[in-house]
Amino acid sequence: MEIRLKNLTKVFPGNPAKNIPDAVAVDSLNVDIRDGELIGLLGPSGCGKSTTLYMIAGLKAPTDGEIWFGDEDVTHLAPEKREIGLVFQNYALYPHMTVYDNVKFPLTNLHIVTNKVDKVLRNNDIVKKLLLNEFEHIVKIIVGSKFKGKYSKDMSARKLVKKYHIVTSLGERLFKYGFQNIETEESKQLNSLLAKKSELTGKLNVCKKEELKEKLSEELKAVKGQLEQIDQKAVAEGLNQVRLVRRDEVVASIDESNQKELERLNGKGLAVNEKFELLQNGEPISVKKRLDRDEMDALIQETARLVQIDEYLTRKPSELSGGQQQRVAIARALVKKPRVLLLDEPLSNLDARLRLQTREEIRRIQQETGITTIFVTHDQEEAMSICDDIVVMKLGVQMQRDHPQAVYNSPNSLFVAKFLGTPPINVFNGVIKEGKVFIGEEAILSHKKLKEFEDGHKVFVGIRPEGFLAGDDVPAKQKVLTLNVEQIQTMGRDVALVCESKYHTDENDIKVIIDSLITVGLGANKFGIKEQKTFVFDAEDENNQRIYLD
Ligand code: ATP
Repeated sequence: MEIRLKNLTKVFPGNPAKNIPDAVAVDSLNVDIRDGELIGLLGPSGCGKSTTLYMIAGLKAPTDGEIWFGDEDVTHLAPEKREIGLVFQNYALYPHMTVYDNVKFPLTNLHIVTNKVDKVLRNNDIVKKLLLNEFEHIVKIIVGSKFKGKYSKDMSARKLVKKYHIVTSLGERLFKYGFQNIETEESKQLNSLLAKKSELTGKLNVCKKEELKEKLSEELKAVKGQLEQIDQKAVAEGLNQVRLVRRDEVVASIDESNQKELERLNGKGLAVNEKFELLQNGEPISVKKRLDRDEMDALIQETARLVQIDEYLTRKPSELSGGQQQRVAIARALVKKPRVLLLDEPLSNLDARLRLQTREEIRRIQQETGITTIFVTHDQEEAMSICDDIVVMKLGVQMQRDHPQAVYNSPNSLFVAKFLGTPPINVFNGVIKEGKVFIGEEAILSHKKLKEFEDGHKVFVGIRPEGFLAGDDVPAKQKVLTLNVEQIQTMGRDVALVCESKYHTDENDIKVIIDSLITVGLGANKFGIKEQKTFVFDAEDENNQRIYLD
């Protein structure tokens, strides 16, 4: 789904009586987001990222401007009609509900428009779909859990086993109490071992004689050992002739098992064709309806597998780690198959390691679903690492929008240059004289474009930490900048030099990153400068725009 923000503006009214001015949270924002793109809204606290997101979600009304989803103007559409999935920083799962019910929650009031007939007839479709898509997964769960000596706790398997027979290709009923009808070598062996194990366990439980007890324990240990050696996968593969059939209706035909439903529909002037579509006056029609339990279950299972929480569906949120809880929140946002996924600082409650892992998960899920996603963060590294494009914002205004690396390599203003990069860019006071940029007495750059400026025009010079040449790497005729090296921090492959210069603008130290093979001493050193890592910004322009020299 393509999203377009046109002159989007949000002003929170102030209170003149209390001398509180209006707050312009978002100011004429124009952003086009391509279908399937993951875009990051990035900026410091208070720059209007969340307000923008909430306007897209419909939770805040814009003061001005428009929001378009594809060809639909959604500016004034109610949030529940926008088909969005929203994940907040504080993911707020319902603590008393299981993960399954948390993910199910958004589906309970969901209405879908369908042209298929309702419950009884549609179940035929669901059974067929299950046969095709879900079966292998379910059998693996059943086999895996049974193998561990207990029945599956997995909701889907349990529910399905209750509702469906699993029959072999010969039509024999397979699963309810065990594997007795599976016709594979592995399953026969497995069943006999399981029987032996249960027999031995039973005997052991009632045995009073120490000597016999020891013998039984030994035997049980051996059986357990053998059980462990059976390849679960081979058993699952041996089941590939097995299929699921609903208990009450093997594949039902319209006229036989659904006569009542058909009569009910006829009474309403409706009919059904062989594709299970509803017809009125011979033409297919659509109806609005709630999802039934099977449909919900299929969506929950599919989403749970996508975000990899299918193992935890029966747990309560308090029994999960922070990262797992966050994945449940993402599943809850995705289960309705929204047109757009909106993420508001979704990682900020996680510790550093989980943040790394979860952000990669978000990228994977986004790529697998192809859902257009807007990701709000103030963490530049996070945005740069997973977004297709980033929009850097300041005081409600878009400063720059491009691929993360392009923004890093070519910032258009001092604000953007300072916002991206760790360690941050080093900024020096400079001045233009005779077509050259000077830092102190040293001319570090010359360009014909600089001749357009009057001598003495003030600039800021930004040099990325990796933009310096040091030691023997400084070519003889290279323009140089002298910095006072105060500390040398070895970091394996690289060395970070902590430097000082009276022309430096920030309170932070100057950081220079060079290869660890280069030797530099403490005290004054002359550094060469890589021009592609050096940016000149107009200090006399209020937005400190970049002066492009290429
Ligand atoms: P953060 O990263 O801290 O969440 P943000 O970039 O998401 O910040 P917003 O929450 O969108 O910023 O806020 C943008 C501006 O609008 C801020 O200056 C904020 O104080 C102001 N603002 C937000 N909500 C209101 C409100 N209800 N009333 C008045 N001002 C508000």
